[in-house]
Amino acid sequence: MRRCMSTPLIAILAGDGIGPEVTAEARRVLDALGLDLTFEEALVGGAAYRASGHPLPAATLDLARRADAILFGAVGDPACDTLERALRPEQAILGLRKELRTFANLRPARIFEGLEDASTLKPEVARAIDLVIVRELNGDVYFGEKGRRTNAAGLREGHDLMRYDEDEVRRIARVGFETAAKRRGKLCSVDKANVLETSQLWRDVVIEVAADYPTVELTHMYVDNAAMQLVRNPGAFDTIVTGNLFGDILSDQASMCVGSIGMLPSASMDAGGKGLYEPIHGSAPDIAGQGKANPCAAILSAAMMLRHSLGQAAAADRVEAAVAAALRAGVRTPDLGGDASTRAMGDAVLAAL
Ligand code: ATP
Ligand code: MG
Repeated sequence: MRRCMSTPLIAILAGDGIGPEVTAEARRVLDALGLDLTFEEALVGGAAYRASGHPLPAATLDLARRADAILFGAVGDPACDTLERALRPEQAILGLRKELRTFANLRPARIFEGLEDASTLKPEVARAIDLVIVRELNGDVYFGEKGRRTNAAGLREGHDLMRYDEDEVRRIARVGFETAAKRRGKLCSVDKANVLETSQLWRDVVIEVAADYPTVELTHMYVDNAAMQLVRNPGAFDTIVTGNLFGDILSDQASMCVGSIGMLPSASMDAGGKGLYEPIHGSAPDIAGQGKANPCAAILSAAMMLRHSLGQAAAADRVEAAVAAALRAGVRTPDLGGDASTRAMGDAVLAAL
């Protein structure tokens, strides 16, 4: 926890579409815990663009910087699709990640009791999923040198440089080991070291860092094999640590194994333990304003915030147990095959608390 002397400040950036609907339920759950927290809200995304002409206004960025943690909803607004790129809602989340230097993206994927039928996998395979993907978020091909040119043969050519330096690998490796140490003690580092120089450096550095974590069992896997194992035997994974590109792909793949996109939270952490917490889903304009959105991912994101930024692990456990209990009681939003509204799902979680 960053400011242990005063009440932690939570920035609520609800955003667009279903963002405000699901974030409101997460906020109700946080309020019900009776913790000493202060909240401040600000506009972001399309909502901010309409109010101020920019998707990430200075006041919003200032609040995000001042806050101890950020609870983020979603950004995205079809009405803004024709705007120039810098003004589009999606630029707000990219800008926040960059400004806040959140380099570690934690995506837990586990299946809640009774939701096996919503998974794309066989129930007995789905039931075993309880893993976390630790994805590097500030490097790799996304941020390496890029370019387009016409080459000597007169052909159009494009390139994106894959690069990591050892410090970048070391800091994400540490997050991987710390995460595994708090779980079942198994870390699988995913790379493509048989063909990529970047991956060979990655593997060397991960092995060096392993010396500091003797209780964690480290394995290495090539990314193609990892993609296969994730759908073949996902129960074998505990913690996966990987680069930006591989993590992007593997974490979307993992999300479909556990049922609905409306169930998955995420955390993006900086070096000091500050984090931005958001459901992995987007603003879902197709169902916005209809009270149909599943708020569980937002509520579980709030639980991650309690655990990772606020030093409130017991409260986080309570929230997760309440979500599990509400689902076990059969309360489900339409994405899970039920007919409960967003508010009713939130009510059920509150009742279970
Ligand atoms: P983004 O680019 O912002 O990630 P996206 O285009 O990937 O957005 P989403 O907004 O995540 O799309 O929506 C994808 C589909 O999932 C939509 O049909 C949407 O209705 C559904 N969906 C997303 N989130 C939820 C939720 N919380 N509850 C129910 N359905 C959801
Ligand atoms: Mg998406």
